Amino acid sequence: MIPAIMPTYGRAEMTFEKGEGSWLIERDGTRYLDFGGGIAVTALGHADPELAQVVAAQAQKLWHTSNLYNIPQQQALAEKLVAETFADTCFFTNSGAEAMECALKTARKYWSAQGKPERVNIITFTGSFHGRTLATISAAASKKLTDGFGPLLPGIINLEAGDHDALEAAMDDTIAAVVIEPVQGEGGIIPLPDACLKGLRDLCDQTGALMVCDEIQCGMGRTGKLFAHEWAGVTPDIMAVAKGIGNGFPLGACLATERAAQGMTAGTHGSTYGGNPMACAVGAAVMDRVATQDFLAEVLRKSGLLRQKLEGLVGAHPDVFELVRGAGLMIGVKCKVPNMDVVAAGYAEKVLTIPGGDNVIRILPALNIGDAEIAEGVGRLDRAAAAIEAVL
Ligand SMILES: *Cc1c(COP(=O)(O)O)cnc(C)c1O
Repeated sequence: MIPAIMPTYGRAEMTFEKGEGSWLIERDGTRYLDFGGGIAVTALGHADPELAQVVAAQAQKLWHTSNLYNIPQQQALAEKLVAETFADTCFFTNSGAEAMECALKTARKYWSAQGKPERVNIITFTGSFHGRTLATISAAASKKLTDGFGPLLPGIINLEAGDHDALEAAMDDTIAAVVIEPVQGEGGIIPLPDACLKGLRDLCDQTGALMVCDEIQCGMGRTGKLFAHEWAGVTPDIMAVAKGIGNGFPLGACLATERAAQGMTAGTHGSTYGGNPMACAVGAAVMDRVATQDFLAEVLRKSGLLRQKLEGLVGAHPDVFELVRGAGLMIGVKCKVPNMDVVAAGYAEKVLTIPGGDNVIRILPALNIGDAEIAEGVGRLDRAAAAIEAVL
């Protein structure tokens, strides 16, 4: 008999009752160190007292009015995002996939507004992940995501990541946009070299194609800059944001320049919940904390500490681990044994990590994780690796 919850997820055994910063706690008091952050979502940790206060205060005032009326919390968050980024304008959503949907629609509508409605093709790359809607699985184009869900969205050209010749050849006057994750997340924490993002920007400038960054996982301070594309010194035309911006309250955003958003006029796009007062009150509070030089500098310092300890871990367990890669507090440890075995051994030692593509375990802790917690988590991973070695 089918369970009451549609069985699309493979779940681990744990049931958490509450959280405190970088810790998740079961009903019987068992504490797990959270090195996964709910997949890069809880950027400021669990049950942050200040964010809890923001939610409670807003909940007592107003939950929802719809986008038929002005929403001051949405206005405030949009102004913060515009002030801190390349963008001139934002559309708010409830999830990452919806932010990507808006990005894809904005790119196509731009060309329609330019009088070139035939310019619809969108270049995407292998190993990417953009969400689970039909348009976003079409974009990522991996069999694992699309199998059985066809027909897919037409107009997607999925190229081998890193094949610069194929990209140059494909950049003709049918291309509306190129979509890229500056650091691939689900694909296995694969940072794009700065030179590639710069090269892509140049190609887009030469051909007019819009550059769309999916920063749903790598944005919001995760790499030590507010957004990962900043490392390369270039800016996209459109960007999708979600995950960390709501710290667990469902919130996403599609950011764009004025030029790229020129087709998105009244009535062209919408969302019932998107940008509601609850979500935007949280998003504004998260922005206030994350978008500061001091906070981002701390992310980088902690990243250095964590990387150094993880390098030690890999060195100490060469039969279990292969290498460490990533940016900021978005780190992948490539395994030599099946990555799920390492994740499961971590559960036994009460440390949570997240499997990713290319046989990595992902380490995506709260950005405000403490130094002692970093040491504790790597210590637990060390014991997990020793347990695996004992039976190799
Ligand atoms: C998580 C993720 C998405 C999808 O976000 P949802 O909120 O699950 O819809 C899209 N792109 C990237 C890079 C992601 O990491």
